[in-house]
Amino acid sequence: MEQTEQNFTCPYCGETISMLLDLSVNGQVYIEDCEVCCQPIEIRYSVRDREVAEFWANRSQ
Ligand SMILES: [Zn+2]
Repeated sequence: MEQTEQNFTCPYCGETISMLLDLSVNGQVYIEDCEVCCQPIEIRYSVRDREVAEFWANRSQ
């Protein structure tokens, strides 16, 4: 499985979080708990030419 590491800022606590994204899909939306503050973050990304084209990390509620 092809993956890339993406860094982003938690929308709740502001900590920098790194996450592995699967590049074998066109894009995904899912909920991941912040590893620092444990709040649910909605992750969205799209993949183009095996690279992350767009990435968002938002509060899920
Ligand atoms: Zn957090």
